[in-house]
Amino acid sequence: MATVVIIEDEETIASAVAARLRSEGFTVEVAGDGPSGVDLVQRVNPDLVILDLMLPGFDGLEVCRRIQKDRPVPVLMLTARDSETDLLVGLAVGADDYLTKPFSPRELVARVHAILRRVGRGGDPLASSPAERTLRLGRVALEPATRRATLDSEPVHLTPTEFDILALLGDKPGVVFTREQLLADIWGYRDGFGARTVDSHVQALRRKLGAGVIRTVHGVGYAAGDDELTPKANRA
Ligand code: CA
Repeated sequence: MATVVIIEDEETIASAVAARLRSEGFTVEVAGDGPSGVDLVQRVNPDLVILDLMLPGFDGLEVCRRIQKDRPVPVLMLTARDSETDLLVGLAVGADDYLTKPFSPRELVARVHAILRRVGRGGDPLASSPAERTLRLGRVALEPATRRATLDSEPVHLTPTEFDILALLGDKPGVVFTREQLLADIWGYRDGFGARTVDSHVQALRRKLGAGVIRTVHGVGYAAGDDELTPKANRA
């Protein structure tokens, strides 16, 4: 069963989340501030990190940067802030999803399962593609089987969410996906919530792989970047 690290300074929340995840069969470790959280992640090598945004020591954004530097561990960010900017920054530094407090334990467990499923620790939706196939988008190559990405044959670190977005677009070159379709396909959300989180992940991908890797189709959404291809409506 998967190991989850919780980094949260509010003890009531940390212990409630830990108890709920343990009852679901997860192995859970808890840290109460930024520096000890980073140490804990490096020590136990978890399958997923639940990370509070506001933490003593240094905040969740800095924790996210540091733990993502070593390897792409999925991060679910918790926040009491209602500032959208903070959330977008969180997603840009490598968080895969977020929950705003107060949240229901059931919602949290559902998100944890969804993230783990996506990154292949419990049935990867991408595993239905031929395992050995490499997706090519110009200078970028993606290997769904190993979840490795390269730019001009040099390895590039992508978060699980960034990888999934690019793999989804790259699998259907020329097809335009709306933000709502991406949210539904990648995150499993059906209510169109958080369309701007898609923009934030796309920005991160462009920073890492070049502006041309994903094309904005104004008023519609996004497509894999290739000027040669004519966009056509997807599942309209
Ligand atoms: Ca806090």
